[in-house]
Amino acid sequence: MQRRRLRVTGTVQGVGFRPFVYRLAAELGLTGSVSNDSRGVLIEAQGPPDVLDRLERRLRAEAPPLASIATLETESLPVDGPGKTGFSILDSRAEGAPAVAVSVDVATCDDCLRELADPSDRRYRYPFVNCTNCGPRYTIIRSIPYDRALTTMAGFPMCDRCRAEYTDPADRRFHAEPNACPVCGPRLRLLAPDGTGLATADDALRRAVALLDEGRILAVKGLGGYHLAVDATAPGPVAELRRRKARDDKPFALMVPDLAAARRLCRLAPEAEAALTSPRRPIVLAPRLQADDPANPIAPGLGELGLMLPYTPLHFLMMEALDRPLVMTSGNLSDEPIASDDTDALVRLGPMVDAILTSDRPIHIRCDDAVVRARPSGKPVQMVRRSRGFAPEPLPLVRPTRARVLAVGAELKNTVAVAKGTTVVASHHIGDLEHLAAYRSFLQAVDHLCHLTGVIPDVVAHDLHPEYLSTKYAAELDLPAIGVQHHHAHIASCMAEHRREEPVLGVAFDGLGMGTDGTMWGGEFLVADLAGFRRVGHLRTVALPGGNQAIREPWRMGMAWAAASLGREEAERYGRSADDRWPAVLDLVERPGTLRTSSAGRLFDGVAALLGLRTRVTYEAQAAIELEACAAASSTPAPGGYEPEVSTSGGLLVLDPGPLVARVVAERDGGTPVPDISAAFHAGLGRGVATVAAGLAGDNGLDTVALSGGVFQNARLTGVVEHELSAQGLTVLVHRHVPPNDGGVSIGQAAVAAYRSP
Ligand SMILES: [Zn+2]
Ligand SMILES: [Zn+2]
Repeated sequence: MQRRRLRVTGTVQGVGFRPFVYRLAAELGLTGSVSNDSRGVLIEAQGPPDVLDRLERRLRAEAPPLASIATLETESLPVDGPGKTGFSILDSRAEGAPAVAVSVDVATCDDCLRELADPSDRRYRYPFVNCTNCGPRYTIIRSIPYDRALTTMAGFPMCDRCRAEYTDPADRRFHAEPNACPVCGPRLRLLAPDGTGLATADDALRRAVALLDEGRILAVKGLGGYHLAVDATAPGPVAELRRRKARDDKPFALMVPDLAAARRLCRLAPEAEAALTSPRRPIVLAPRLQADDPANPIAPGLGELGLMLPYTPLHFLMMEALDRPLVMTSGNLSDEPIASDDTDALVRLGPMVDAILTSDRPIHIRCDDAVVRARPSGKPVQMVRRSRGFAPEPLPLVRPTRARVLAVGAELKNTVAVAKGTTVVASHHIGDLEHLAAYRSFLQAVDHLCHLTGVIPDVVAHDLHPEYLSTKYAAELDLPAIGVQHHHAHIASCMAEHRREEPVLGVAFDGLGMGTDGTMWGGEFLVADLAGFRRVGHLRTVALPGGNQAIREPWRMGMAWAAASLGREEAERYGRSADDRWPAVLDLVERPGTLRTSSAGRLFDGVAALLGLRTRVTYEAQAAIELEACAAASSTPAPGGYEPEVSTSGGLLVLDPGPLVARVVAERDGGTPVPDISAAFHAGLGRGVATVAAGLAGDNGLDTVALSGGVFQNARLTGVVEHELSAQGLTVLVHRHVPPNDGGVSIGQAAVAAYRSP
C-alpha cells in the first residue's frame, strides 16, 4: 500500500475534473479524496503502487475534453490505517493565492443538445441548458475559486432536482456551476425597444423568431454580450441595420444553422471546418463562393465571409426555427464596446432595434466573439481576434518569472495580459481605446483579469507611445514600469507563442507604432530576443501627410508614394484625380518638417489608392484588406520585375518599394487588370522582404525569422515570405494562436517584462 498526494494545475476547474477523478479512482478501487483549491485540483489516493501509477497515467490520457493539465506533481504521504474506505469529493477550499486557470466559455455539448430536442426531457427547449462539459464560464465568474456563489448564477437557488444532479458525483451536472432548469433557472424575456415586457420564456422565443422572419432587427443577449440580429437573406433589413448601426462597409458576421449551410456559402478547408465546429466557436473568415450581392452587401469588396455556428442553446433554437443565415453582429453603435449590461443595452441598443430578446442571467464581463482566418488547406487557421472561447486560457512562458506583470497593451484592438509564475493570461478583446466607453471597459478588464488570476501587479509593461490611454494608465500606477517598443512586443508575442528563447530576425509590419527614435515605425527588421532588440533594417520612410488623416484617407499615402517613387509630377497627376485638397497635401509631402513613417500598412494604403481601389476608409486597414482581396481574382502567375530595391542608410538596411510602386503605376496606366497588378505587388514585396530578412539573418548568425504585425494578417503576403524564407533553409515563425495585429501586443509586452524579471 502507498498513499500519494497529486497536485494538478492548469485548466482543471469548471471542466468536470473532480467527477472524472472520482470515477477513475472508484474504478481503480482506490481510497482517498479530490478537492479544488485556489491552485488547482488536489488528489489524495491510497492503493497498490502500480494502481497509483495507472491513476497518474490515466489522469493525463483521459482528462475531460475541456481540461488541460499544465503540471502534475506527486508526493508520498504516510499510509492511512484501515477503516478509511471509498473515495470522496471534498468542498472547495479558498486558501492561498489563486493560480488556477479559469475555463473559457464553451458551446453547448451534444448531450445538452439532445436534451434540448427531447420532448420528454425536463429541459426540452430550455434555452439555458448546460452541464460540466459546456456553457458559460469566463463571462459569469466574478471571482475564484469557481463556485456557483461566486458567479452571476448566485441569484438562482437550485430546485431539488437540479441540486440532486449538482451534488451527485456520478451525474454529468456534478458541480456544473451554471446548472439550471425551467423551474429554477434564468428565463427569456422579449422587450419592446422602450423596455416594456412583451413576452417571456418559450413565448418570447417564438415571437422573436417571428419578428426575425419578418425582417425585423433584434438585439439578442448571448454569452458575452448582445448581438444585433437580422435575416441575412433580406436586403432591405440588412441595409437598415447598417444605417442604424452607422457601419458603412465593415463586413457583418453571419450565424448559419449548421456546417452544411456554411459549406454552401464558403470554401472550407478541413482546418477551417475544424475551427468552425470546435467548442470554442469562433467566427471563421473563409473564401466565399459567391461575390457580394450589391443589393444586399454583407462583406462589400471582400472575398471572404465571416461565419459562425450557433453556440448557445438559444442560438440553436433560433437557427432551427429560422433555418437560414442570420447577420449576428456586435451589439453596439459603430466602434463602441459591445453591450453586455442589461440596462446599458436598453439605453444603447433600444433605439437601433425593433425588439430585445434578453434574459435575467447577468453577464459579468463582456466578451466579443473571437475571429480566426482560414489559410490555404494544410495550414492552421490564424487568430485575428482572441476573445470568447479563447480568453482567459493561459499561454506558457518560456521561463518562469518571479514578477507579477500587468501588460496594458496598445491603443487599437486593445487587450491586457498578466504574467505570473509560468504563464501569461490575456484578456478578451477590449477594443479601440480612443473611445471613452472602451477605456472604461479596459479598466473593468484589468480588474477582472487581476481578480481571476489573483495577481496584484508589481510591474507594469506598456507601449512607448505617450498618447495611448493604456500608456497613460500605466504611468498613473505607482509601479515600476517597463516600456516595450511596439514592434518588439509584436515579435516577442510571436516568440512567446512558439516558446522561442534564442534570438530571431523579426519582421514587424503593421500600421503605426512609436519607435525608439520618436518617429512612427511600421516596417521593421529587428534582431530580437525576449529581453531586447536592435533595429537592423526598415522600409523606406515617406511622408505621412496629415498624420491621422492619412490613415483615414489612403489617397494621401497614394500621393506620398507617387512622389517618393516617381516624383512631383506624378504625385500631382494622381492628386488631381483623387481629391480637391491635393495641393495642400502635395505641400505637406514635400515639406521637410512633415512627419515621416516606415509603415508597411501605409504602403498598402498608398498602393490601394494608386490602383483606384479606395481613397477613404470607413474601418481600420480597409484599403489594405481590399487590395489583398482583389488579388484573389488574378489568374495569371505574378510576373517578375516588381522588385523593391535595397540600400543602406545610417548603418541600417533600407527596403525601398519605390521601383515596385513605379511599376504598379505603369501597369495601371497600361491597362493591366488591377487584380493582376495587386497579385504581382504582393509577390514582389514578399520576395523583397524575404531577401532582406534572409540577408540580415545571415549577417547576424540567425536561423529563424519571426513574422508579426497586422500586415501579416495578409495571407497572400505571408505565404510568399514564408515560402521564400523556407526555401532558403530558414525556420519561419508565423502566428497561429496569438493575433499578429495589435490584439497580441499585451502578450508580447508581458513576455518581455516577465523575461526581464526572472
Ligand atoms: Zn452540456
Ligand atoms: Zn432546477
